[in-house]
Amino acid sequence: MIKLKSVSKSYRTGGEETEILKDVSLEIDKGKYVSITGPSGSGKSTLLHIIGGLEPINSGEVWVDGQPVHTMKDNALAKLRLKKIGYVFQQFQLLSTATALENVMMPLLTMFSSPQIKKDAEEALTRVGLAHRLNHLPSKLSGGEQQRVALARALVTKPEIILADEPTGNLDSETGKTIINLLEKIHDEDGVTVILITHDPELAQRAEESIHVLDGRVELKPYKVAIR
Ligand code: ADP
Ligand code: ADP
Repeated sequence: MIKLKSVSKSYRTGGEETEILKDVSLEIDKGKYVSITGPSGSGKSTLLHIIGGLEPINSGEVWVDGQPVHTMKDNALAKLRLKKIGYVFQQFQLLSTATALENVMMPLLTMFSSPQIKKDAEEALTRVGLAHRLNHLPSKLSGGEQQRVALARALVTKPEIILADEPTGNLDSETGKTIINLLEKIHDEDGVTVILITHDPELAQRAEESIHVLDGRVELKPYKVAIR
């Protein structure tokens, strides 16, 4: 369902071209739980951005659920992201002036009428255990709670794919575990494809497959027995 064919990606900075991904081919089946590992700066976020249609590529093809991301225009990409993809970031990326509920309602604003939006957002927040924090501003929430709001925002559109860029990177390991448990629960219960960037080998090994990024190349290896 996610397919990269001979993808190359480079950035130009200060007149110099640096190739981040070199002729990368990769297939991720629907419903898989996949981790992405690799040293800092190896291109993990870039790879996730490419899959999420957030970053153009220099050559190759990117297919998500049968759609040619590499040829699609911004409008079509926005629609694809809204319908199919939920994104979670290391820095939560919540709007600080909006409550938990309003943050989670945001992705739905262009889709439905308001009573429906509020109900869906409440449901998503309940799912991540935050039914009692609906009207809190992010600044009144702990880091773990803020990340759960961000996860609810990713879930609220009922995506087929969740892309998580080091979602535990700013959390202590105990709190991080609650986020991972939620991701695993969503994967197990809803059959959502999860792609998780992590520096934590223990978390990486809980996935069904792992993509290791190094020197512009990727290696996909299955974990024979999921540890959990
Ligand atoms: P990782 O997620 O593995 O830490 P990234 O994908 O964020 O790596 O970055 C890979 C490399 O590409 C880094 O050297 C980074 O500085 C560079 N890079 C990322 N985004 C850009 C950009 N928009 N412009 C220029 N260089 C970038
Ligand atoms: P993360 O915490 O996800 O690794 P970063 O702080 O590395 O995020 O990057 C934040 C944003 O800046 C990303 O969208 C990334 O693509 C971009 N970026 C990273 N490195 C560079 C760079 N060297 N030049 C320009 N943009 C960059």
